[in-house]
Order: sequence, then structure tokens, then C-alpha cells
Amino acid sequence: MNISFYAPWHTDQDDEVLASCLETNLATDGPFSAKVHKQLSRIYEESPMMLTASCSAALETALCLCGLTQDDQVLLPSYNFPSAANAVLRAGAAPVFCDIDPDTQNISLKDAASKITGRTKAIIPVHYAGVACDMEALLKLAQEAGLAVVEDAAQAIGSLYNGRPLGTLGDFGCVSFHYTKNISCGEGGLLLCKNRQTYEDARCYRVHGTNRDAFFNGECDRYTWVTPGSSTAPSELCAALLSARLPWLEQITRIRVKRLEDYLKALKPLEDAGYARLMAVPREACPNGHIFYLRFESQALRDRIHRLLLENGVEARTHYVPLHLSPMGRKLGYRPGDCPESAACCDTLLRLPLHTRLTLRQTGQIAELIIKGCSS
Ligand SMILES: *Cc1c(COP(=O)(O)O)cnc(C)c1O
Repeated sequence: MNISFYAPWHTDQDDEVLASCLETNLATDGPFSAKVHKQLSRIYEESPMMLTASCSAALETALCLCGLTQDDQVLLPSYNFPSAANAVLRAGAAPVFCDIDPDTQNISLKDAASKITGRTKAIIPVHYAGVACDMEALLKLAQEAGLAVVEDAAQAIGSLYNGRPLGTLGDFGCVSFHYTKNISCGEGGLLLCKNRQTYEDARCYRVHGTNRDAFFNGECDRYTWVTPGSSTAPSELCAALLSARLPWLEQITRIRVKRLEDYLKALKPLEDAGYARLMAVPREACPNGHIFYLRFESQALRDRIHRLLLENGVEARTHYVPLHLSPMGRKLGYRPGDCPESAACCDTLLRLPLHTRLTLRQTGQIAELIIKGCSS
């Protein structure tokens, strides 16, 4: 077998839109960005939104708008990519790492609740693998403690929670169009805002802290610096590429979810025999097939199966080093033993290839290889 971990999704329109974009002056927020906006409004309905250069830039914007000070703390899972933690640091506050739930690898609400103090101001749920966190319970917890909710929906375009798109449930939602995600334009992101005022503030932050929007809306004669900000809009070229690919979102999601379901079915015997736990998909969550993973009963077994797959041309991958165990996490004062489930997840989780070029036959072959490998 020769099965890669990722496979790009090219469209016949890619070349064409890029060529016509190159004929413009590439002004930021030009016609291609406007087109992407229209396409995304169909997914995100009424939510005020803006394109950003990355999901990381969207997270930074959101955290900056939470009005944090150096005494403030923000809860987030340790089992995560560093973007959200970086955004907290850049906003001047302290990230507080929480452990995860062993079924979904999403933030453990029990652990999060136990870490709320008078200084806690926000929580960042990460929808790992595109599978929704328990948002009903999380929003309740946040409301009781007066926390802002910033959804890291980087992996979650096309995913739903009780029928609603992930990223639209919290005060802010951040989505990624990085090349590793279901829909990509190389680098790109999206910031969703619940509230009109924070949306206006985010627009201002996005254009160097100026009132450029008001100027272009004819509300003032010239635009000027009004608040701290940054430059987080994407290039019009990236927007052009995104505009060619977004129409395929439903089809991409459908294929990926099918392959995810193939894996769940074919690997069920592994779970029944106690060799591994398959990723859980709670009833309220409708995932987008971003990642398929399983957690083996031991690190030794995970490593053995990982090697077996690689030897047979199947590019399986492990995932995050928990942030509390990273060199930066150690600098922040975290210690081994702080988030035990996150550490165990790092040792036992394996991701299998999942993309639109994968076939039912291939998921079957991969599953067979794993099941044989476990019982030999
Ligand atoms: C990919 C990813 C990010 C970063 O997204 P960029 O668009 O590359 O900045 C952040 N958080 C999670 C959970 C991700 O998977």
C-alpha cells in the first residue's frame, strides 16, 4: 500500500480564479474576499464574520478583545496545538491548562470547573478532530462563572452541534483554512463574532487599529489610528483560491465522514477485544471527518502498530505533545503529572489517513492490518 496521511483537494477552477485575481491590483478585501464572505454566510448564517490570515490570527484577535490583564487566567486543554495558548500570552494573561476527556479528547469540564478562580476570565474549547465539545454544559459553566467563550474551531468547518455550526456558539469562533484542514487555501482563517460591537472592534483590530471601515462606509473624511491593532486580513490571492474550493465543502465533508464511519465499523472488533478505544462521537455532535483516531491500551502497542502501518506504506501519525509537558509549558511552571489524561493520550493516540482520495477498500485494508497486528 502507499497511503498518504493528507491529500490535497484541487478544483478545476483553481487556476482560473488565481489568474483572474492576478489581473486585479490584489487590494485586500477585494471581490474574491467578498465572494468567500457570501459563500461562508450560507454556512454561518447570521454570525458577523471576517476572514483572517490564519486561525491563529483569529484567536489572537478574539483574546485581545476579551479585555484581559496580567492577573487574568484563561482555561484551555493541554492536549492542543499552541495557537490558543500563544493568543492568551499575547493578550497578556496566563493560560491555565486543563485535562481532557478520554472519550473525545476535548476539555474535561470537571477539571475546568475545578480550576476556576476569581481570576478566570475566559475558556477556549477546542473541538478536537472536528467533534464538538459538550457545548451546552460548557456554556452553562461559562455563564455561571462569567467567562468569555472562544471556540477553537480550527478543525471544525462543516461540523455541527445540535444542528448549529461550530464556531457560532461561543462569544467568538475561530476556523482554519491551513493546508492540513478539510478546506484549504494554503493559509487562512475566519473569525466569527457573536456580538455586533465586538465584531466592530475586531474589524478595527484587523486593519492596524484604524477606523478604516468607517472611512470606506463614508462615516468620516479620513481614517486614522484609534486603538491597538494588527494586520490580520488574508491576501486576496488566498481568498480567490478559497472561493474556488468552498463550493465543494459538502462533498468533501460527505466523503470524509463516510471514511470515518468505515473505520469505526471495521475497527469495532479491536474495541470489543480491549486493544484500543475508538474515537467517540457524542449524539449531539455531527462531525466533519477531519481526523480519525484511536487510543491503544498501551504505548507499546500503539508504537508497534504505528511501525507496522509505516512498514506497510500507511502513513499513520501520532499527535500533540501536551502543552503542559512542552518546554514552554515547563517554563510556565507546569509539571509532569499535572494533566495525566493528556499525557496518556499523547502516548497512546494514533491518527489514520483520512482524506477524499481514500477508498472503502483502503480503510478495510488498514483496519485488517491493525487487527491482525494487535492479535499477533
Ligand atoms: C490548525 C490548528 C490551529 C492553527 O490554525 P492556523 O490556521 O494554522 O493558524 C489552531 N488550533 C487547532 C486546534 C488547530 O488544529
